[in-house]
Amino acid sequence: MRLFDVQKEIEIACREAKRDPKSVTLIAVSKSQPIEKISALLDQGHRTFGENRVQEAMEKFPALKEKYPDLRLHMIGQLQTNKVKEAVKIFDCIHTVDREKLAAALSDEMQKQSRTLPCFIQVNTGDEPQKGGIAPRDLEKLLRFCRKETALQIIGLMCIPPAGAIPDLHFALLHKLSREFSLPSLSQGMSADFQTAIRYGATHIRLGTALFNVLEK
Ligand SMILES: *Cc1c(COP(=O)(O)O)cnc(C)c1O
Repeated sequence: MRLFDVQKEIEIACREAKRDPKSVTLIAVSKSQPIEKISALLDQGHRTFGENRVQEAMEKFPALKEKYPDLRLHMIGQLQTNKVKEAVKIFDCIHTVDREKLAAALSDEMQKQSRTLPCFIQVNTGDEPQKGGIAPRDLEKLLRFCRKETALQIIGLMCIPPAGAIPDLHFALLHKLSREFSLPSLSQGMSADFQTAIRYGATHIRLGTALFNVLEK
């Protein structure tokens, strides 16, 4: 799909869900994509990107951000505390807060750099041991910690449903949790399931394959 086709698909999904297309932010996931392909999307006017590794983001995005000051970069991968300093420098939003230590480190670093990056808490909706994210039953405690002990601006929840699973239950659970804790934003939905995610209230969808596989032709 091209950017235009993806945007059309988002509009259709929003219409069916009786939602405003403007309430869904499309994050172009550019991990492992070369600068030329990222530039092609920038040329088409797209400005919101996602990367899952700090190192790769630091290699690709400082120059692009200089050229396009309104470019916004989202961190969607697991974050180690020793990478927090660079992460706060290069990213504009963090989707993967999932433990107290990381939350505290991010909060301290943002204060040091005088930068406020809105954050999502990642929830491991499938309880997969190899995956990042807080278990649903521990979410309340982590959220309380973030609100009481840190200056983090937690705007929502994020999930990555287990590979091969039907995503509906995971999206529905995340939606329910976001309501329960009065969090307005929902980062859910990838190339294979973003229409479903929109139906379950996604405000941020993260698309790699659907956007980048075509620019090749
Ligand atoms: C790679 C990645 C995506 C994009 O996946 P596609 O299936 O290529 O759209 C979305 N979210 C996260 C966390 C990712 O790592």
